[in-house]
Amino acid sequence: MIKCDKCNHDAIIYQRYSGMHLCETHFKEDLLRRIKRTIRKHGMIKSGDKIAVALSGGKDSFLLLNVLYEIVSVRRDVELFVISVDEGIEGYRDRLLTRASSFLKELGLFYRVGSFREEIGRTLDEIVSMGFKETPCSFCGVFRKRILNRLAREHGATKVATGHNLDDEAQSILMNYLKGDIERLARLMPLRPIEGFIPRIKPLREIPEREITLYGLLEDLPTTVMECPYASRAFRSDIREVLNILEDRHPGISYSIIRGFEKIRPLLPDRLEEEEIWRCETCGEPSSGRICKACMLKDRFLR
Ligand code: SF4
Repeated sequence: MIKCDKCNHDAIIYQRYSGMHLCETHFKEDLLRRIKRTIRKHGMIKSGDKIAVALSGGKDSFLLLNVLYEIVSVRRDVELFVISVDEGIEGYRDRLLTRASSFLKELGLFYRVGSFREEIGRTLDEIVSMGFKETPCSFCGVFRKRILNRLAREHGATKVATGHNLDDEAQSILMNYLKGDIERLARLMPLRPIEGFIPRIKPLREIPEREITLYGLLEDLPTTVMECPYASRAFRSDIREVLNILEDRHPGISYSIIRGFEKIRPLLPDRLEEEEIWRCETCGEPSSGRICKACMLKDRFLR
């Protein structure tokens, strides 16, 4: 049996990007230390913050909630509450959210769920059945962000914490590079707050997905192999496959992608920061034009 590089216990993981074999204790220590370092490095939590944790019911969001709960339990100057979005994906999100609410009962945190049904009058399943040429994710992403932002703002949040991990972040950067979508690329890391939008923090952005899965199993956090039934139709799914191949051949490439992005980010224009922020004439939410993207999409399926 291969031994841990930090002690004499049996190793349970080999981190190819760091060249380290780690036992259970040192693996958990290392993972939590890196999350806390990311939080400090990007100044993600400040005194007086009220953080809305976006709980999807997936493994990443449970780890995120656990870590933030631990941090907040020793700080009186930071508050935490939890928000979720039910897109209306039968057999998937409903099951994840049932698990989320039973997990939350033990923590006793304030919890609010918003839904596509309440917000836009349709579930995602209903929108998909209408046969639009766009992928389900292009509708889902817009409305989910809208609902999270509104729930967080209505309950006085100063930040929204999401469970995006290293794989998610590297995929998003690469997708926007390939599409040449500079505006979205810049929005992955806004340099200044934008009125009406609650700033987002991603404390897990430097933790690989497989390490989150392993940590969840070791700590008995709710984990699942369930995947959204629409995920395979997304461009992201192809990018994930490509990145997995690259990571296998060049360990650490995902870290290189996010480090490279951090270097070029200050050079990118930030359209929403430079232009006037409008209020959508239909819903009153902040928008980059007279009518926001959510209202434009909603108009199409309510016609
Ligand atoms: Fe929504 Fe796409 Fe994610 Fe499914 S995979 S939850 S449709 S963004």
